[in-house]
Amino acid sequence: MPELPEVETIVRDLRGLVTGARIVGARSNWPKTMRSHDPEAFAGAVSGREIEGVGRRGKQLLVWLGPTPAAPEPAVLTIHLKMTGQLFVVAAGSPQDRHVHVVLALADGRELRFRDMRKFGRIGLYRRDTATGEPVEGEAVGVLARGAEPLADEFTARRFEELLGRRRGRLKTLLMNQDFVAGIGNIYADEALWRARIHPLRDAHTLRRDDIRRLHKALRDVLAESVERRGSSVDDYTAPEGDGSMQEHLQVYQRAGEPCDRCGRPIRRIVVAGRSTHFCSWCQRIPVAQRDAAALLRSAGDAGDGARREVAATRRGTRWTEISGQGALGRTGDEEARAAARQARVAATRKASATRRAAARGGATPPTATPPIAGRTGGVA
Ligand SMILES: [Zn+2]
Repeated sequence: MPELPEVETIVRDLRGLVTGARIVGARSNWPKTMRSHDPEAFAGAVSGREIEGVGRRGKQLLVWLGPTPAAPEPAVLTIHLKMTGQLFVVAAGSPQDRHVHVVLALADGRELRFRDMRKFGRIGLYRRDTATGEPVEGEAVGVLARGAEPLADEFTARRFEELLGRRRGRLKTLLMNQDFVAGIGNIYADEALWRARIHPLRDAHTLRRDDIRRLHKALRDVLAESVERRGSSVDDYTAPEGDGSMQEHLQVYQRAGEPCDRCGRPIRRIVVAGRSTHFCSWCQRIPVAQRDAAALLRSAGDAGDGARREVAATRRGTRWTEISGQGALGRTGDEEARAAARQARVAATRKASATRRAAARGGATPPTATPPIAGRTGGVA
């Protein structure tokens, strides 16, 4: 699911592509995508409006629309990309597949298309106040009042500390709460916690001031770096002007079983509140005060004979589980495939350089076997 850096990238692309364009029509083949209108009413309400700008609040995209003679109030289009939503600007008549569910026709002959494989994405159109420009109806009102924007100047370490206040609960879950801080999802919560060396199961109220400062810096750094790299193109994310490259720089997300970049021990994966969570249990320690969590993590460790114990540890309240199975550290199928591909690349490179070395030595038979890659499945309690 696109998070702040991905949505910000889309916003910046769109801003350059459609600001100043006029909408002359709309069509949709999936009424559920429309949050505020049925497709016909939506077309009527949006046509004739000029796109005044494109913005973002958390993970929500906002397209600011001007008034028309028939509808004197300005409006805002809210776009939730959810799991698989994508936006493209193309010439009308360009090939279109069956996953394009909403199309806005522009007066200059282009179209803004919303493509959404899984159809969880939602688009709403709401009126704004003529004087203030603020949205006055629907979800658009609430969205502007939600959690703190982590990249805003006002989001200082002091402000973060105030927001944390006496918040309780597991940090990973809290960071992903859009009413607390907006725009952070699974990827950047895991990455920021790894950078800050804080365990995802840590109770928020046990953070000390220096933990908070490290986490604040880690959050802002990882988000800013990702915006610079146009986001992480994992799953279906892409932006109107192309993919991002942050996925190549993620240090824990979807890297279960691979060595931690700091300490070399394998990255682990557990499920917290239904979401997979990646961390290094060496670099990100759980305080002894949280003995229940520590004990559960230990019980999820290696059985000692190379085989992993089946673990189905659950708690009341926020549930979390170690994922067991192939790869011993809970790799997903994708992670397995990527690790195998990486291993094959390394092996090929080694083989090629061995062949070159052999050739340089004067034609000795190149080795046929490649050296095994050091085991990555050792357990860490
Ligand atoms: Zn580590």
